[in-house]
Amino acid sequence: MDSEEFQVASKQMIKFVADYLENSRERRVLPDVKPGFMRPLLPDHAPEDPEKWEDLFKDIEKVIMPGVTHWQHPKFFAYFPTGCSYSSIVADILSDAIACIGFSWASCPSCTELEVIVLDWLAKALKLPDCFLSTSDGPGGAVIQGTASEATLVAVLSARTKFLRKLKEENPGMEDGIALTKLVAYNSIQSHSSVERAFLIALVKHRSLNVDDKRALRGETLRKAIKEDKAKGLIPFFVCGTLGTTSTLSFDNIEELGLICKEENIWMHIDAAFAGSAFICPEYRPLLNGVEHAESFNFNPHKWLQVNFDCSAMWIRDSRNISQAFTVDPVYLKHENENEGIMPDYRHWHVPLGRRFRSLKLWFVLRLFGIKKLQEIIRRDIKLAVEFKKLIEADARFEIFGEVIMSLVCFRLKGSNEINEQLVKDINNDGRIHLVPSKCDDTFFLRFSICSNRTTYEDVQHAYKVITEIVEKILKNSRVTLDSK
Ligand SMILES: *Cc1c(COP(=O)(O)O)cnc(C)c1O
Repeated sequence: MDSEEFQVASKQMIKFVADYLENSRERRVLPDVKPGFMRPLLPDHAPEDPEKWEDLFKDIEKVIMPGVTHWQHPKFFAYFPTGCSYSSIVADILSDAIACIGFSWASCPSCTELEVIVLDWLAKALKLPDCFLSTSDGPGGAVIQGTASEATLVAVLSARTKFLRKLKEENPGMEDGIALTKLVAYNSIQSHSSVERAFLIALVKHRSLNVDDKRALRGETLRKAIKEDKAKGLIPFFVCGTLGTTSTLSFDNIEELGLICKEENIWMHIDAAFAGSAFICPEYRPLLNGVEHAESFNFNPHKWLQVNFDCSAMWIRDSRNISQAFTVDPVYLKHENENEGIMPDYRHWHVPLGRRFRSLKLWFVLRLFGIKKLQEIIRRDIKLAVEFKKLIEADARFEIFGEVIMSLVCFRLKGSNEINEQLVKDINNDGRIHLVPSKCDDTFFLRFSICSNRTTYEDVQHAYKVITEIVEKILKNSRVTLDSK
């Protein structure tokens, strides 16, 4: 494809993309295919000679679309939203064209400098404490990671390095392997699976602590665990608090956790992957109180802030803890400006060496939407969730599970787990709407999450109608009665 052909093909593709997004409603939200569906549709080897663009273009509808789960469909209510906006897509075109690998300041100065600046913008929009800003006097800073999972891993590894170093200073001659067995980390039983995974990768012991009746990890629980572990000769070094858990959107009490971490000199990391975006609205900002005690804080603009995957924003109180944990300095990556400390060399801040120019999409989105419009979208989604909650509450066959704080409604039929499992299965086989279940304390429930910018009040009403139709079918075909009857 040369430049002329590129201009033709990309115009055609952009038209396809706009039509796809505007008309996704006409498709079935979930694909109706079985594993292996694609193999018979494609040859078993790549072509020797170039094929025609037109032939490839035709295959998008024929080969790809039948197996696509349409995440931007107005009736997609599963998981959490994943950002998608024209502003972000346009930025990614530019990022693809510049095609730099911005591992150091010198490898593409704009790539690093824009990232520093837009993360300061974002920190100010969330009213994060000044210590996290690059312009503050201290060593605070921020970086775009690919995902929240990577942010947690980087936080755990940085904390681990910091504590191992200290332990070995205090105990000269102690082997890393021995020192490692002393460290213990904490999370809650409601934290995301990626947190436990970070502990597994880092080879550190961890305890998943119990939560209160609002599914929040509380200070007292943490204090007790720390006491027990210290009595065993262990060194508590890391706590991951969650703001907005994936199952039910519960919020750990980071004010309580933070004070204890401060007292005990423990690294507190905060995972606000989904809910973090809502903190740009002043009415939700109080949920972030306590962040002033955190060593690191992370959320995903690629979930609820109109930025396409991947863009996970991470702030660190003392960026030396992260850059020094991962520094290896071969000659071919050195440059003359690296030790001035004015701009970071982001290669020291994450696991891979290479990095995309991801700040462009954040910059485009923040400028072309503006904070007010982004707030409006968040409030609109929450309003839609509240409307759905009202429909469920008015129906005696259902109960709300937990609280509706943002745009997620957890609910279930008043009955056994089995009948609720049947309900989710039948809803997704029906294919008109898509949602996923979860389970807490052995109670199985359904999650209804407002995901698409194109979801309207009518879509929410329709979803409720689809659900009740399916419930009626289940009740007719089985002898079960619900607790409400
Ligand atoms: C979605 C989510 C994650 C995982 O996010 P990735 O960016 O895909 O790693 C982690 N924690 C919470 C609370 C989440 O909601």
